Amino acid sequence: MLEKKLRKYMPALVAGSLGILLTINAGVASAGIGVLRPGAGNNPPKTPDWNVKNQEGGSGAVTTKDGKSVQKLDKSKKTTVTMLSVMLGESLSSVKVSASGDFELVDGNGGKVLGKMPANVSAEVKISGGAVYLNGEKLASRIITLRTGKGQQVVYNGSSYRGQLRLVYDGSGIQVLNIVSLEDYAKGVLPSEMSPSWQPEALKAQAVAARTFALYNKGKGHTASSGYDLCSSSHCQVYSGTAAETTTTNQAVDETYGQIMQYNNQPIYAAFHASSGGATENSEDVWGNYLPYLRSVTDDDSKSPYHNWTSKFTVVQVEKKLASAGKEVGNLKSIALVPISSSGSVTGRSASGRAYGVKFIGTNGEITLTGEQARRIFGLKSAMFNVRTERSVQVPAKGKKKVTASDGKTIDAKPAAMNDGIMKLQGVDNVVFEGHGFGHGLGMAQYGANAMAAAGSSYDVILHHYYTNVIIQEIY
Ligand SMILES: [Zn+2]
Repeated sequence: MLEKKLRKYMPALVAGSLGILLTINAGVASAGIGVLRPGAGNNPPKTPDWNVKNQEGGSGAVTTKDGKSVQKLDKSKKTTVTMLSVMLGESLSSVKVSASGDFELVDGNGGKVLGKMPANVSAEVKISGGAVYLNGEKLASRIITLRTGKGQQVVYNGSSYRGQLRLVYDGSGIQVLNIVSLEDYAKGVLPSEMSPSWQPEALKAQAVAARTFALYNKGKGHTASSGYDLCSSSHCQVYSGTAAETTTTNQAVDETYGQIMQYNNQPIYAAFHASSGGATENSEDVWGNYLPYLRSVTDDDSKSPYHNWTSKFTVVQVEKKLASAGKEVGNLKSIALVPISSSGSVTGRSASGRAYGVKFIGTNGEITLTGEQARRIFGLKSAMFNVRTERSVQVPAKGKKKVTASDGKTIDAKPAAMNDGIMKLQGVDNVVFEGHGFGHGLGMAQYGANAMAAAGSSYDVILHHYYTNVIIQEIY
């Protein structure tokens, strides 16, 4: 049923009536509806040299749709839940922390007990003169761990978290880290990445993606100098602790306990985004590096509120936006589509039908923007867009004053002229971007995943659709 929908839908999308289609790595701040964001993976993988182009798909890849496509762990092997360090705050000169139950503060990562505190009473850690003070007492240690009883939560800055807190003085300030299991982390992340009211199987797919994304980052060092795995903002994934948790999202995490996506026995870079516009993208066409599991696939994006969007600018506004971005070309004369990809495409179009770059030609020269640059400069939701022009027409009205486009009557200035060539802007008033989708277009599209779930697909089928030749593996 879904495939039918897709077949019906896709030709319209890639039909030649669209002028310029671009794809970019979108990093838009807010989706504007619910809690949905453009998705993780707005920052390319930290290991861009990870080129596995010539390798086979994961050994023993299972892509059946009979529910057996999750590789269960051999329970005779003893495993432990993976722990993560998630940064909640840094560069702080003083920190107050507490817990919902009685708690203790220990030296380092589990050394001698420095102090015991009752529930809901704050301990204060301060830096003064390059030394660490705990409740006013000078310490020799630079690391303090706060741990509380089972089932209790640690508290920092008004938010509660599962696991432990670790305060690290790195020489310039205090880092507040939450040492938390991958499962509890996923519970604190999921409601921020997908609306809890969405289809249960879509939530489960998102849970596996969120878990995988975190594990991919584990141990890689968030930045060169920081010792933690992930930050708690949209830079990585929004992590809000227990306050964010909901019944449905926790259930999605529990029902996929320990499951991640692997390729060649490694966690994949599980990029995802809000809305594909109808087809996802190949990684090399967005980031330049080939990832075998981030391949272009089609999906049903028709329910997405971002399926169709329009951003209109006057020619003068386009000139000004280019100029303020340091891309001044003078008076704009024409716009052209150009291939700037390194992926070897001859046509200048990517697998999904998107193009790679746009050239603005003006009286003072010309500038070529990548899709990403065009998206940022014009604030577009995605780079899967068509460029159209509009010019005013004057409609003679019987004996009355003339009606102009500004009164709501416009006419297309032959958008077909665009057709991979140069579109002249002479006599044109507006440049219109008509686009599809929201986000970078890589990996799982959340609206598409929800549509698949609504049509009866289980989470493993959804994941295998969006991530090519991966194995869903239970790791503990
Ligand atoms: Zn981050």
